[in-house]
Amino acid sequence: MTPDFDAHLAPYAARAATSRGRSFSEAASATRSEYQRDRDRIIHSTAFRRLEYKTQVFVNHEGDLFRTRLTHSIEVAQIARSLARNLMLNEDLVEAISLAHDLGHTPFGHAGQDALNACMKDYGGFEHNLQSLRVVDTLEQRYGAFDGLNLTFETREGILKHCSLPNAQRLGEVGRRFIEKKQPGLEAQLANLADEIAYNNHDIDDGLRSGLLTVQQMSEVSLFARYHAEVEKLFPGISGRRAINETVRRMINALVEDLIHSSRANIRNAGVTSIDDVRNAPPLIAFSDTMKAEAQELKRFLRKNLYQHYQVNRMTSKARRIVTDLFGIFIAGPQLLPHDYQLLDEDTNEQARKVADYIAGMTDRYAMREYRRLFAVDEI
Ligand code: MG
Repeated sequence: MTPDFDAHLAPYAARAATSRGRSFSEAASATRSEYQRDRDRIIHSTAFRRLEYKTQVFVNHEGDLFRTRLTHSIEVAQIARSLARNLMLNEDLVEAISLAHDLGHTPFGHAGQDALNACMKDYGGFEHNLQSLRVVDTLEQRYGAFDGLNLTFETREGILKHCSLPNAQRLGEVGRRFIEKKQPGLEAQLANLADEIAYNNHDIDDGLRSGLLTVQQMSEVSLFARYHAEVEKLFPGISGRRAINETVRRMINALVEDLIHSSRANIRNAGVTSIDDVRNAPPLIAFSDTMKAEAQELKRFLRKNLYQHYQVNRMTSKARRIVTDLFGIFIAGPQLLPHDYQLLDEDTNEQARKVADYIAGMTDRYAMREYRRLFAVDEI
């Protein structure tokens, strides 16, 4: 008999008993919960291993210590699990969603995604959340009975964080909440905010490490200034990486604690007693108003001073060119694509989608190598 893995969870958590299940039904495992199986399938996927060589903000070869999509996803999972345990939500599910949330990202971070979306304008566009779902639903080919990983509905619901209305209409059940303006389960809401906590803080850390940001400049941001002052008071004379780490860990902690308290109050006030109640309620996992304002101030600061720093812009511009030129050469000459990506009939939309899948699946360095192979005349 399958043990009850969910006995300790709150009634409004996602649980196997109320799961909307998998597309292809499979027998329950005697040793693992359904969401644990999802997590395990994600970790064993090819797309997951590629995250190691995909950019977060800094391109992989710029330095060995910067976050990549892989370490980012692990940090998101860590924060999400802490939050879930405190709120008695399903830790296995938040971990699965967190580890899968960026699987559909193109090489070169947002620059790559924006460029690919522009290239795909006449062929249905490109959305990285939707691509993450496409990876786990169809692109991974590892099982005998089905394409994709055959994940549970709740993990898929969490992966599809945003979705345009035309795509939502096409997707069926998992897209329906975007049409009906409903919420996903609390685990999905939580993984989304854990993502935000993780990248805001590690981007400060990476920004300072790279020298593109300075501590002095960061003092414009109230959340940073407050904890930096506390650290200096507690450890007189502290400086360098130690001071930064002591500050950042306090910021993460403050955000996590605020999110727990405020979400707990929201859940109590909404009186939800099942995951379906949660889906019909307003968003319940949320920061307090004060913390939300501080987090927004931090985001604005990073957008202006880090994401649009001229040195980041240079890489962004190069990334855009690489993705755009690769798309252009493949769409004009599909015979240049590896066999698996060439379509024999002449459906241009389908061919464009195959090109997008091929480019989106590339790591940063693979995209650069492919670019050289195709455009550098002295390269074979
Ligand atoms: Mg992310």
